[in-house]
Amino acid sequence: MIVAFHLLIGWLIADLISGIVHWIEDRILWVGMPLISKSVVEPNRLHHEDPRFFLDQTIWQRGGTTWFATAALAGLWLWLIGFSFIWLSALAGGLLTAEIHAMAHRGNETTGFPRVLQQIGIIQSPSHHAGHHSRAMDTRYCTLTDFLNPLLDWIGVWPALEKILTTIGLEPNRGTQ
Ligand SMILES: [Zn+2]
Ligand SMILES: [Zn+2]
Repeated sequence: MIVAFHLLIGWLIADLISGIVHWIEDRILWVGMPLISKSVVEPNRLHHEDPRFFLDQTIWQRGGTTWFATAALAGLWLWLIGFSFIWLSALAGGLLTAEIHAMAHRGNETTGFPRVLQQIGIIQSPSHHAGHHSRAMDTRYCTLTDFLNPLLDWIGVWPALEKILTTIGLEPNRGTQ
């Protein structure tokens, strides 16, 4: 039972990180910035303009950048804190998040066990993720589950972070430039 709880915690940690990284991509990064414009910013902007475009890409094209980032973070965590089932589940969440995001754009094409997991919300459902794309892209940044977004949006985490950006003199990107 405790293992299942730890697996859930790790999964939610990965969900939270997916939301933070996604918020940074949408609100802070910009097209043309050094080093990561081509690999991170432009695919993100393209996804906002044409959400189904990445469904025709290979798994590597969709998830490669996230895999590298996940491996780096997981390696650091393992080195600093050591192995746990929380770590294992967070690692799995990081590696799978791009595919789970893609599944959320496939609508009714997802069937079987993954569909059941979507209905439970353990992996993000199409109807839940549609909320990010339809509401000026300022809510539901987490892409792994249906669980954290309602809480984070209710608390107002993202507008608070935007306010911090404005306070320090940065104009939040609207996810389009
Ligand atoms: Zn977005
Ligand atoms: Zn999406």
